[in-house]
Amino acid sequence: MPTRAASDLFRSLPSVDAVLRMPPVAQLTQRQGAALVADAVRVVLERLRKEIASGQLTSDALPLAVSGVADAVERQLSQALGYSLRSVVNATGVILHTNLGRAPLPREALDHISTTAGTYCNLEFDVQAGERGRRDVHVDRLFQHLLGSEIGEGAPAVSTVVVNNNAAAVLLGLNTLAEGGEVIVSRGELVEIGGSFRIPDVMVKSGATLREVGTTNRTRISDYERAICEKTRLLLRVHRSNFQITGFTEQPELSQLAELARRRNIPLMEDLGSGALFDLRSIGISGEPGVSDSLRAGVDVVSYSGDKLLGGPQAGMLSGTPDLIRRIRNNPLFRALRVDKLTYAALEAILLAYVKQDHDSIPAVRMMRVSKDEIGRRADAVAARIASKQLSAQVIDGNSLIGGGAAPSAVLSTRLIALSHQVFSADELALRLRQCDPPVVARVEEGRVLLDLRTVFPEQDELVIRALISLSS
Ligand SMILES: *Cc1c(COP(=O)(O)O)cnc(C)c1O
Repeated sequence: MPTRAASDLFRSLPSVDAVLRMPPVAQLTQRQGAALVADAVRVVLERLRKEIASGQLTSDALPLAVSGVADAVERQLSQALGYSLRSVVNATGVILHTNLGRAPLPREALDHISTTAGTYCNLEFDVQAGERGRRDVHVDRLFQHLLGSEIGEGAPAVSTVVVNNNAAAVLLGLNTLAEGGEVIVSRGELVEIGGSFRIPDVMVKSGATLREVGTTNRTRISDYERAICEKTRLLLRVHRSNFQITGFTEQPELSQLAELARRRNIPLMEDLGSGALFDLRSIGISGEPGVSDSLRAGVDVVSYSGDKLLGGPQAGMLSGTPDLIRRIRNNPLFRALRVDKLTYAALEAILLAYVKQDHDSIPAVRMMRVSKDEIGRRADAVAARIASKQLSAQVIDGNSLIGGGAAPSAVLSTRLIALSHQVFSADELALRLRQCDPPVVARVEEGRVLLDLRTVFPEQDELVIRALISLSS
């Protein structure tokens, strides 16, 4: 309960009607309409009530707050009429940062979206025949080319369907291939991915029953073999993505699982999580299998994300043998999980870049490939511009992360700008960077604010400099 003093303060706040009658607010009403302005007034008065209740707004400060009400209403209104989703500068060094929208899209993808989505397009229309077409043809041809040519001569045909994200792809795959039956999974692969994707829960929702085999650290091919019965519909391998099991461990090779699946005539699905379409070994990351590695090892259906190592829009892919993919496409759930023209346009542009081997046009891939030396040169240039008594900047060695559950242990070495401020703590400094326009999101570690330019677009370096200069005086 508010104290007596607080309830007196509440009473001295103007009413909604009184604020609406203030001349500047009345003018706003004429321009923007009564409903929007009244909402803004309510938000502002509610904020003041909360500040009084929490003791933040005391009786001496109240008159000033009340005299600023009209201005506060105007600010509130312009915020309400502006976008909430906005661009931020990612200086965290986490390339596929799930909270910051994962992969930034290349220019080509944005252009393709604007030319196809701003008018009508042939999403499901065969222009030649003048008849209804299928939406997956636009990208299936490119997946066929990319995966087929990597798997090599004489490889079996591969089809691909696209859904909302990889979580949807796993759900759709399990539901199509295993509803009402059992799916065999190793106890070492029952993963949880951030944001509540858990294999046992997805399994329940798919209508399939999870049949766990092996132990947390060791699962052998004989464990799978023994669990196979007349109820078995699918063998599932799940990429561990965000954790590792080390020490006394064992896991069958993918090719051994594929051999068992073929011998017992049961399909093998792999949830790869992050589907790389380029060879990560070229940037010094080993042990992160690509989509074609899985197919080459004999996996029948592989699922992966569009906005992880692929560097594209949010989407989930299921690639595999044409008869299984056809069953998946014919599942009524597919209609509920399919993607729109914006996603197809972005994905088609990304896949074309891979076909042309133009990897550097894909921002996430380019960020993985950029050298420590180049980042160091940019970091030195930024640091040189902002050194002041208040704010000091030192360029040090450090690591960037790929993120998004890809290659959990893989770090890319980088150069970091380590900041310290005479007055502000590291958390305060990071907050002030986020309050800049556009917000600059940094890492805080061991009492220092760290900026990693690997994930900052070079043309944004000037924004970072401006943000830092504004905090150094
Ligand atoms: C990331 C991931 C998912 C979820 O993918 P989304 O595209 O985020 O839905 C599922 N499985 C694995 C193994 C993952 O790494």
